[in-house]
Parts: sequence; C-alpha cells; structure tokens
Amino acid sequence: MHEKTLAELAAGLRVGEYSSVELTRHYLDRIAQYDARLNSFITVTAEQALADAAAADERLAQGETGLLTGIPIAYKDIFCTEGVKTSCGSYMLDNFIAPYDATVVSNLRDAGVVMLGKTNMDEFAMGSTNESSHYGPVLNPWDTDCVPGGSSGGSATAVAARLSAAAIGTDTGGSVRQPAALTGLTGLKPTYGRCSRWGMVAYASSLDQAGPLAQTAEDIAIVLGGMAGFDAKDSTSVDHPVDDYMSGLEADLKGLKIGLPKEYFGDGLDAEVAEAVLQSVRVYESMGAEIVDVSLRYNQPAVSAYYVVALAEASSNLSRYDGVRFGHRCENPQDLADLYKRSRSEGFGAEVKRRIMLGCYTLSAGYYDAYYLKAQKIRRLIADDFRRVLQEVDLIVGPVTPYSRLPIGQMMDNPIRMYLGDIYTVTANLSGLPAISYPVGWSQAGMPIGAQMIGDYWREGQLLSVAHQYQQQTHWRQMPTMFAA
Ligand code: GLN
Repeated sequence: MHEKTLAELAAGLRVGEYSSVELTRHYLDRIAQYDARLNSFITVTAEQALADAAAADERLAQGETGLLTGIPIAYKDIFCTEGVKTSCGSYMLDNFIAPYDATVVSNLRDAGVVMLGKTNMDEFAMGSTNESSHYGPVLNPWDTDCVPGGSSGGSATAVAARLSAAAIGTDTGGSVRQPAALTGLTGLKPTYGRCSRWGMVAYASSLDQAGPLAQTAEDIAIVLGGMAGFDAKDSTSVDHPVDDYMSGLEADLKGLKIGLPKEYFGDGLDAEVAEAVLQSVRVYESMGAEIVDVSLRYNQPAVSAYYVVALAEASSNLSRYDGVRFGHRCENPQDLADLYKRSRSEGFGAEVKRRIMLGCYTLSAGYYDAYYLKAQKIRRLIADDFRRVLQEVDLIVGPVTPYSRLPIGQMMDNPIRMYLGDIYTVTANLSGLPAISYPVGWSQAGMPIGAQMIGDYWREGQLLSVAHQYQQQTHWRQMPTMFAA
C-alpha cells in the first residue's frame, strides 16, 4: 500500500480495497520497523490514530466522499495538537502538551485525516539540516550518511521513506521546499495568509506559512484543499476563496510564459543541479510554454535581509519561553533573574541562542536603522521586483538548493555557509509569494534534485497544475528510496 500516492490511496479506500484501519496499521508497522534508525518521528500517536481510522471507516461506509477521509498523515512537531506533546524540536518544550489543535490540524481533522504522529524538526524551525533538533538528526532515506534538509526534515523523511502518505511542514525561508528537494518529494509554500498560523509555534511571524509535503503535485492539491482557508483567529489570515485545486490540474500550458532569472544560475550553484533544472525547462517548452529570460535584481542581498528580519522576529517571539509563561523551568532559582537566565540557558540549544542574540542586536536602539530598517527596505525592493517580473511572465522557475547532497555534520560548524544555502528559497517568504518544489532528476551520486517554481499571489492552483503536468510527462518521482521499496 505504501508505494501508492495519496490520490491512489484515497481511491483504494473508497472502493473498499482496504480500510483506513488496515492502512493506518500498515504505516504504524513501517514506522516501528524503520524509524528507530531514520528518526523522523518525535511522537507516534498509534492508539489515537487507530481510533481516528475506525471513525473514518464509518464515515466512508456512510458514503463520505472527501478524498482525505481515512488518509494517514503526520505533522511537524511545531503544530499544536490537543493532548499531544508539541516540542518544536526543543528541550524547552519537551514537556509541553498542547491544550488545543492548530487550525490547520483541526481543518484536516474535519476533512477526515488520521494523525500518525509528530515529526522531528530543527529546534524552533531554525536550520536547513535538521541537526539542531534536541531529538537528534534525521537521516535521509536516499543515503543515510546524509540529512534530509530542514527544518521540516522529519516530515520529508517520513514521506520519502513511505512511513506516511503525506506530512505537513512549515516554511519560513524554505523549510518545506528544501527538504522536499533533498528527498525527492513535492512540497508547497502557499501564499502568506493562505493557511492559518493559529496554533503553529511562531519562528518569524511575517514569514511563516504551513505547507504540505507529498509524493506528487496531485497529492499536494488534495492536502492543500483540506488545510487552506480563512481563520478569524489569525489576524494575518486572508479571506480569499480557496480554489478547487484538483479540478484545475489539467489546465492547458499552451501560451504559458515561464521566466528564467539569470541571477539563479550564477556562482555557487552545483552544475548537476543547474543542468537538471534547465532540462525541466525544456520539457515545459515541449508542452507549449514560452521561456523568457528575466532578471531579479535584488536576489543577491536576499539572504542577508532574510536573516536580519527572521532573527529579529524570532528574538521577540522566543521571549515568551521564560520558565514562567512557557517552557522549561530550572531547579531552585535564587531569584527572578536567575530563573530567567538558567531556564533559558538550559532550555535552548546553541543555534537558537545564536539567533536570539543576533535578533536582539539588530533590534537594539543603536543598530535598528543600520540593520533592521535596511533589511525591511530590501524586502520591499524584492517584492516590487517580483511584481514587475510577474507582469511579464506567469511564473518563475529555478533551483531550490545550490546542492543535492548534505552529509551529516558538514554544515554544523559553519552557520554562514548553511544560511547561504537558502538563497533561492527566502525570496518567496520575503515577498509572500507561493512557491513549489518538485523533483526533476538525480545526481551522479544518486540523490534527488529539485526545481522550484514561484507564482503570483493566490496562484497555488497554477503552480500545482504545471508541476502535475510535468510529473505526468516524466518519471522523476517514481524511483523509491531504499526504505520505500
Ligand atoms: N533555513 C532557514 C532558516 O534557518 C529556513 C527555516 C525555515 O523555513 N523554517 O531560517
């Protein structure tokens, strides 16, 4: 069963080929068999999953037609889930049991999904390798000497190793798209405001968006339809109609204009990645799309602007973990200052501390204008630049990551190098645009390579349709990892 896509599983459930309980048990068995090694789950909610699956089977027996009913999925451990530990990959929240469900979780629950558990992640979603997790690194099922990327690395490995039909991640600067690329999956960061952030632990509030990871664009269309929508509880949620993503998948590509930014193919990009992305562009040409050279003039300062804005917001968001309101509390504090100091020193890991200090620095009275304000101006220039280019073309294509293989340990003592790897993904967050990552080939070393498409606001449907048709023409997503065979 686990070789099937989510869409195929949904079809099997509806004709009674297997029940949701059987399907759920199958995934739970696979988690028990492989995950001690892969480390993609922090918490497995087996009992609850089987109860949810039994309820879904009843709904299916009564003729329920929703495609998500009875489908087992996993959530990044950043989403609050009522009665279940929500650690955010941190010792700080190791004992936190969420008292309510995030809106994304309750939307999907209403649609009938079964929660298998909560997936591993970089601590507070800060990282690109999943190595900053308190619960240890996650292994990439394509090569277990490598990481699956981050920060939604557990979600990516869980789907790539077929331990779950799909998984939900979050993307602040690339954390859905980059791990999708490194594990041969499809991943989407929706338009900012498309999915509610309520109940999603905040890293950088103006950049964070929830997004699904799955085998295909069609699967993403199904999951996004279940999670998207306006939420009055999130003041940044936008009341914009949710498209029927499934019905738009076959929209004709003839006359579609795809922009190829020259800045995306410069120094630092691995030659195999460049070649695979350019090959994928030729496929679009053969399907009737027109390829247009474009220029994104403010791409170069994007990583710097992102790390100033993201860390400034993070330093503010993470101030709530003080051992009083939220989070780990130290033993026997001498006084209030000692309580704050030791609780935070013990609760946070090194990368999180580094980022809180940098964020506080750029927001401080003496440096606010020089760093934070300047970064906000660059952010505006980046968004305007995209607006200009997206008047000329329908969407923009390029790489997701400069590399396709990340050995464990390689980035850990070089944070700057790790940050620079986010060059192609952070601009979609800084501008709020939707972007999709999908597999377009393999490297000589046998690792998957991803391409990225960025579209105009609210055009998730168009991104999904173009990626879907590409996946119908090619076979890149069909080779299973060693754990999925
Ligand atoms: N790698 C980026 C960072 O560390 C993106 C993380 C994310 O999207 N959550 O900030």
